[in-house]
Amino acid sequence: MSSSETAFTEICARIGHAASQQNRTAKLLAVSKTKPAAAVRLLAALGQRRFGENYVQEALAKQRELADLALEWHLIGPLQSNKCREAAEHFDWLQSLDRLKLVAPLARWRPPTRGPLQVLIQVNVDDEASKSGCRPDEVAGLAAAVAAAAPALQLRGLMAIPAPHEDPAPRRAAFARMRALFEALRRDHPGVDTLSMGMSEDFELAIAEGATMVRIGSALFGARSTT
Ligand SMILES: *Cc1c(COP(=O)(O)O)cnc(C)c1O
Repeated sequence: MSSSETAFTEICARIGHAASQQNRTAKLLAVSKTKPAAAVRLLAALGQRRFGENYVQEALAKQRELADLALEWHLIGPLQSNKCREAAEHFDWLQSLDRLKLVAPLARWRPPTRGPLQVLIQVNVDDEASKSGCRPDEVAGLAAAVAAAAPALQLRGLMAIPAPHEDPAPRRAAFARMRALFEALRRDHPGVDTLSMGMSEDFELAIAEGATMVRIGSALFGARSTT
């Protein structure tokens, strides 16, 4: 087996094990930022369909090279307003919606032929630790705006990148706060089904705290030379 095949098999087994302990399943988003299209193609040949990218231009170049494959592309990096059109036209999911003013341009530019853009609201769950993401108290308003932009947009849930901590306790607490926000959101929006949290270092902890999708880059593809 190639090293990517070994890594993929191992990560899938660890996700399956962590999720089965909660009597649930969790989906794998393979984060291919900075990695070549050939690396995506290798994982696609092993059955992986969902890929995450941080930068619109980099993603578009890979999508062109991989146009022969039926892949699902997730934009997970911060979205600038001047990139809304490309995001709406070229991605299946946007995981990083964090402000109201992006909603109208995304809806306007979503081509009806592509069906709804699947949207996660990114929450800055650790407050000042990261600049991306809305405040927890902004989730309900943003969710209402996304829901009102149907059928161009479809609200699917929440995403977070908790601050890295050596100590798992604060990370676990951040994941648990996300779980509570997610459950509250689901009460108002029954179509919500996705809580995207957990990366290479902490995805098992995230699944234990309720993640339904984990975003894994370096543990699958090897370390990145740049971020
Ligand atoms: C890079 C990135 C990941 C993957 O991180 P790894 O630690 O390499 O698994 C996940 N989510 C987001 C938003 C990222 O930018």
